Formats: sequence, structure tokens, C-alpha cells
Amino acid sequence: MFILQNQGEPLYEWIPSTERSPVHPYYDAERYCDDEPDAKDVQQDLESLLAVLCNRHGIDKKTIAISQSHGKVDQGFKVSFHFVVGGPVSTPAICRQNAAEMNAQLGQSRILFDEKVYKDRQCMRTLYASKEGEARPLLPVSHADDDLAHIIQTGVPGADHDMSGERKIGDRAGTTPRAAPDTKVSKTRLTAREEEAILREIKALGVPALTKPLITFTPKGSLLISTRTTTCAIAGRQHTNNHIFYVIARSTSSIKQKCHSPSCEGRESSVGWLSEPLAARIFGDRST
Ligand SMILES: [Zn+2]
Repeated sequence: MFILQNQGEPLYEWIPSTERSPVHPYYDAERYCDDEPDAKDVQQDLESLLAVLCNRHGIDKKTIAISQSHGKVDQGFKVSFHFVVGGPVSTPAICRQNAAEMNAQLGQSRILFDEKVYKDRQCMRTLYASKEGEARPLLPVSHADDDLAHIIQTGVPGADHDMSGERKIGDRAGTTPRAAPDTKVSKTRLTAREEEAILREIKALGVPALTKPLITFTPKGSLLISTRTTTCAIAGRQHTNNHIFYVIARSTSSIKQKCHSPSCEGRESSVGWLSEPLAARIFGDRST
């Protein structure tokens, strides 16, 4: 497994595009204090953030890789958390909207999510890294034995798929980002034509047009189609907030609709199968 050997170095994960980079949902939260706050206060901050985060994604907090880099800064003391949500794949643009909505829920909370970390060519600090000129490394709070869980584009083959197809870790803008060692993901990029062909076949199976579909590969090489569509075939109605997604199994080409709503958790609705010629083109040799 890839271990981040960057104790204190300013090493960043590079996320090329707000709209087109598939990422695990990631969030950054911070607050400034005059002096170092009570550990109990900081724990309370974390709990309030986790409560809205779990609610937003309909997940348990143990699927969230949490890290922190509290410490003295020029203005006093900074409390800072990073969160990477395991499982679903999203985009920075969707995360930004989530952050805004979660901040609205947090209301008068003294700690809020940073909505400014979702721009194109965003650099996010990696675990154990310190910002330039600071000795305030990002340290794991959870998933301490699982460095990869803290990386925003981990296990997202096709990440940067409008770029080189490889996850980038490097110094902040100015230097060329480099691929992290041992983290190469299989060459699983889709062309725009392949994406169109997939969506066309799904539509032909009777699925209404999808809102903002984003097609990526899962770590096992199946296809995941994230959407902003709320009309759910499992629930037989429209959800208020939760979005549906589709999984096309690499082994069988079956297309199943799934859903982020807690009420639909673990359930699926069969749509049909991807045509054999298209499946062969996308998945290639499936004997392994
Ligand atoms: Zn549903």
C-alpha cells in the first residue's frame, strides 16, 4: 500500500476540475481562536460537523476519514479539520453545494465548512503535510492506518479523467504535479462518445433523462453513474434531497439504479443490461 512519506513537507493533492474531476466528497472546516481552546470544545466542534455531514450523505461517521491540523498561527490559534467521505463518488462542484447547505444547517455554529476549497486546480494538503512556512501537519483523527482513505481521489479510477487519468500529488501550483508512487489506477477512461453511448442505451431502456450524470469507474472496474436526479424508481417518488445513481456491473453488464436516500439504502431497481458490443468496448476482457 502507498504510504504518504511526506512528514511536514508541503505536499498537496491536485484536483484539476470543479465539474469534471470525480472525487470522494471532501470538506474542510476551520475556526480561529485567540488562544488554544479547550480539548472538549474542539471535540464538540468535531461532533457538530460530523452530525450534519453524516446526515447530508446518509452515512455513518466511521466511513469518514478525518484529519486535523490545529495549531498556532499568526492570528492566534486555528482549529482545522479535513474530511474525506468514503464510498460515493462526487465532484467538487457538488461538494461545494453540500458545504453551503450544511453551513446553513450549522447556522450560528462557531465552526463552519470552508466553501472556497472547490475551485478548478484546487490543491488540498495531504496527510502529514504542513503548509509552507508552518509547522502544523495534518494528522489523522480516524483511519490512522489507512492513508489512502484520506486521499480525495483514491480508488477513483478515471479520476482526472479529462486530464491524464492518473491521480496527482505534488507541490502547490507553480511546480508540475507528479503522480504519487504506487497509486496508478488502471487505464479506465471513457471517451465522450462512450459516455454518450452508455447514456443513450440507458435512456432506451426507459429511464428518463438524467440530471448532470457523471460516469466513473469503481475500484473493481464497474461503472458508476452519479446524478443529480431525485426521481427514484426504488421509492417510486421524488426525493427531497437525495440523488439516485446507477451501477453497471463489469461482470454481467447489468444496470441497477441505487439511491443515496437512507430509506432506499441497500435496495436497487433493475434497469436492464448494457448491449454486448458496448459492454465489450467499455469493459474489454472480463475473464479476470
Ligand atoms: Zn430512493
